Amino acid sequence: MFGQNLIRPPVQGDGSRLEVKHVFPTLQGEGPFVGQPSVFVRLAGCNLACHFCDTEFEDGREMALAEILEDVTRLASDANGMRVRDLVVITGGEPFRQPIGPLCSALLDAGFRVQIETNGTIFRPVDDRVHIICSPKNTGQGYMPVRPDMDARVSAYKFLLSTRDDRYQQVPPVRTDVPVYVQPMDEYDAEANAANLAFAARMAQERGFRLSLQMHKMLGIE
Ligand code: SF4
Repeated sequence: MFGQNLIRPPVQGDGSRLEVKHVFPTLQGEGPFVGQPSVFVRLAGCNLACHFCDTEFEDGREMALAEILEDVTRLASDANGMRVRDLVVITGGEPFRQPIGPLCSALLDAGFRVQIETNGTIFRPVDDRVHIICSPKNTGQGYMPVRPDMDARVSAYKFLLSTRDDRYQQVPPVRTDVPVYVQPMDEYDAEANAANLAFAARMAQERGFRLSLQMHKMLGIE
């Protein structure tokens, strides 16, 4: 978190086992599916180390696909066994670092909708029904290029904005046939966050983007 994580390269495998940080029920707090009851599968490790990263994703444990599915199914159900969450968000870290194709397919086969949150620098084929939300990152030499095979599959883009960090004060050109969200960067400073919110709201109105807020932080949930 806050860029202190180890940079972890992509790993190979058949996807039958994945390194998982946490599987938990929540409300999706940002992006196109905001407000929807969901189960998050937070995979361990990232190939980047952004200085503002607000997520703890180190120290995962290896889980079998069947075990992940069992956890998701249980957490998606109410006390009577009725499914009350049909959205599964696969996030990280960087989820495409691991072979997630089989997990996506298994979740879809079990009747879930699947959304992936990615930085766009690694891609693996996943079922066409998966929604991919791509939030490109800027390491100082410009935005890291989104892979063409990823770009073709992206359902929406999301860009962080900051008034203090000049790497995050613009939205680079991306596909025009998918929604583009702008989201104020959380800098853990009330004054900076207020400025970032005003900046993102202005940018949304001037450029026709959609404003994304981190609702889960307002609610104090994970
Ligand atoms: S790409 Fe995302 S998960 Fe990875 S370090 Fe940056 S903000 Fe954190």
